[in-house]
Amino acid sequence: MIGLYIVVIRRRVLVPILLCLTWLAVFGLVLAGLLPERRVIVIDPGHGGIDGGTSSGNLLEKDVNLRMGHILRQVLEAHEYQVVMTRTDDSDVSHFVPEGASRYRRDLKGRVRLVGRVRPISLISIHVNWHKDSWRRGAIVYYQNGEAESRLLAEAIQRELNAIQPVERQIRAADFYVLRNTDAPAVLVEIGFISNPEDRKLMQDEAYLTKQAEAIRAGIEAFLRQLEPSAESSKGRR
Ligand SMILES: [Zn+2]
Repeated sequence: MIGLYIVVIRRRVLVPILLCLTWLAVFGLVLAGLLPERRVIVIDPGHGGIDGGTSSGNLLEKDVNLRMGHILRQVLEAHEYQVVMTRTDDSDVSHFVPEGASRYRRDLKGRVRLVGRVRPISLISIHVNWHKDSWRRGAIVYYQNGEAESRLLAEAIQRELNAIQPVERQIRAADFYVLRNTDAPAVLVEIGFISNPEDRKLMQDEAYLTKQAEAIRAGIEAFLRQLEPSAESSKGRR
């Protein structure tokens, strides 16, 4: 009887101790950088549902954004990123925020709320541009004015996009609700001008969208390398 009693006590004590040790070991490995870190990226295809965004004839921005979102998702997942999309079909995101405000406002709030929950390493919002001057073209990356890391991410992605597009564009500082209210480095990529005939053709071309998605992925990777705390790369950069 005495022996059995000891075994029972031991088990009771051992299980929590083992659990603690396991937890500490995993935590230690993560800290030591030996386990792959969770690399989650949120892709936010702009507009959706009753909000079509900009348009040209039958071509609606919301559809282009969604298609590009899916392509970018495939490209990122093929490179071992985890991807969360704010929408995967033709719906807006206002249902995340059932109370108050207009549907448009709730839609934007819903996107922000989702990003807050997921806590990604970055947010990529996808949109399509429009300008009354139809000669304007090319993808442009926007970042929230005053956010240094988002600016670095925008520069890295713009550099890669410029390498594949016929015109060179510069990043732009802006004030967008979704970017302003997101803690992670966040950019908004306007993948082209729907008001420009050549861009309009490209944004319906799956092969070109895939090229753009690869460029965005390369930009994200260049940005993450810049953030790594190696002595040479962080010196003189900030
Ligand atoms: Zn838009």
